[in-house]
Amino acid sequence: MPKYIVVAGGVMSGVGKGVTTASIGKILQEHGYKVTAIKIDPYINYDAGTLRPTEHGEVWVTDDGGEIDQDLGTYERFLNVDIPKRNNITTGQIYKTVIDKERQGEYLGQTVQFIPHIPNEIKRRIKEASNNYDFVLVEVGGTIGDYENIPFLFALKSLERDVGKKNLTYVLITYLPIPSHIEEMKTKPTQQAIRLLSESGIFPDFIICRAKKPLDVVRKKKIETYANIASDNVISEPDIETVYQIPLDLEKEKLGEKLLKEFEIKSKKSPNWSEWKKLVENILNPKKNIKVAIVGKYTDIGDYNLADSYISINQALIHAGASLNARVEINWLDAKMFENDKKSSNDLKNYDGIIVPGGFGASGVEGKINAINYARINKIPYLGLCYGLQLAVVEFARNVCGLKDAHTTEVNPKTSAPVIDVQPAQRQILEKSMFGGSMRLGAYASILKEKSRMLKLYEDVGRVKDDEKRIQELMKDKSQAFRIGLLEKNKKVVLERHRHRYEVNPKYVDLIEKNGMVFSGYYIRGDNTKLMEYIELPKNDNFFATQAHPEFKSRLGNPSPLFYGFVKNCNK
Ligand code: GLN
Repeated sequence: MPKYIVVAGGVMSGVGKGVTTASIGKILQEHGYKVTAIKIDPYINYDAGTLRPTEHGEVWVTDDGGEIDQDLGTYERFLNVDIPKRNNITTGQIYKTVIDKERQGEYLGQTVQFIPHIPNEIKRRIKEASNNYDFVLVEVGGTIGDYENIPFLFALKSLERDVGKKNLTYVLITYLPIPSHIEEMKTKPTQQAIRLLSESGIFPDFIICRAKKPLDVVRKKKIETYANIASDNVISEPDIETVYQIPLDLEKEKLGEKLLKEFEIKSKKSPNWSEWKKLVENILNPKKNIKVAIVGKYTDIGDYNLADSYISINQALIHAGASLNARVEINWLDAKMFENDKKSSNDLKNYDGIIVPGGFGASGVEGKINAINYARINKIPYLGLCYGLQLAVVEFARNVCGLKDAHTTEVNPKTSAPVIDVQPAQRQILEKSMFGGSMRLGAYASILKEKSRMLKLYEDVGRVKDDEKRIQELMKDKSQAFRIGLLEKNKKVVLERHRHRYEVNPKYVDLIEKNGMVFSGYYIRGDNTKLMEYIELPKNDNFFATQAHPEFKSRLGNPSPLFYGFVKNCNK
């Protein structure tokens, strides 16, 4: 039977509950256990697909096409595993399932009530996601005391009864403020969080104390007395420079050993942190500094939300940098800067590389195209991600193929050269205004051309083998196999996640290739339609882009091939 670790947060949000949960998972993995993590989001939205990224942070895409809160991304980045969409549970999903079941008569005339039906559905979902794992981390979103948390805490208390207390442990993550006018670390908010949690019948077995500074013995003792747990189980987690330090810091407090002791089990193997330590050391003290410009539309995002809205790109650059012993300094440049003014494009020469990330709509598009043009002509390393591929194709069609009016129909539906367009099957869905259903979402296979630069990039980081294995695994499930697409015999194939509506228009592929751009990878849909996935310029190793979002598959120690190749190019 799996063992559960329930992680809840007290005092306030934004103290790093997700990274702490992921770090606990990483520690247990190092002790030889098979780990997964579940995120509970108490909001009523069915999933994060409709949430505004500028408010809520980036939408994370899973292999199986889920649009999820970014915490699942944190788990994958730390645990180096693919986590399915069922590991995200929202209030909306729970109620929808219960109401659907009621409509289908599954409750056989019972009165359907909050208790027991809602907690039972929550438990069913948790158990379903726990199959075949040694440890399951369940992170409860929000902060203890939020009204919307109550059903979930109730369900977890009930899960405790189902599986027995020896198979379930509670971890409370709190924050200890140090008000500047007294310069003293205060434990009172933590005491109150403990009390609030006890109102749900839950008493923490571990308390992890986030704070600016390490916790001293006096405060550990104070919390010990208040929470009635050994001060050994009061763990200090001070601020750090990189989140990847957290597992190492928690291990200094022997959290792994203490957790296993709580469950009365032993390590399956002795942890080996040497590789992880080396990567963290490279993040903290890199040999080189690389300056990258990310040209996007940022005007409606405040400074504070910027990094969160692009967290996966940010992390993918950190991962590539860590493997190459370089720090990647990100400069967010508003595409509008490059719209009319050639001089501004010249500013781009101050950067070692340029990225055009994913995006939607017309805002800043001409600026992005100008920036891509500058990168191509001046051979500045370029990485295009999704919209960044589409606009690179538009730029090339206009300036090399002579199709002056070339555009994506997302911006100019009347263009005489629609090099990027919605494909017929998707158009039908769009016409019915079913925007949610019209996206290409989740993992799709791409066949990579022999001798292409792209194939070399994937082989360089050992991804071809890994992806082939993962494709075989996913293919076992019919609904997954359909999306992943068709494969070709003896051809190298890789897997990346997607989130977009428009495609390179197949009618222009030959013309563009004749002019020197190579489509180095393609997807084959069930009806044999080929969709272009990668571009590269054989005469310019510094220039490539993908229709996918490879940032969703980047992990520390297992960087994305495209980001790795890009940072390497920047480092030349
Ligand atoms: N707007 C483009 C499309 O829908 C690109 C989307 C993206 O970059 N994620 O196809």
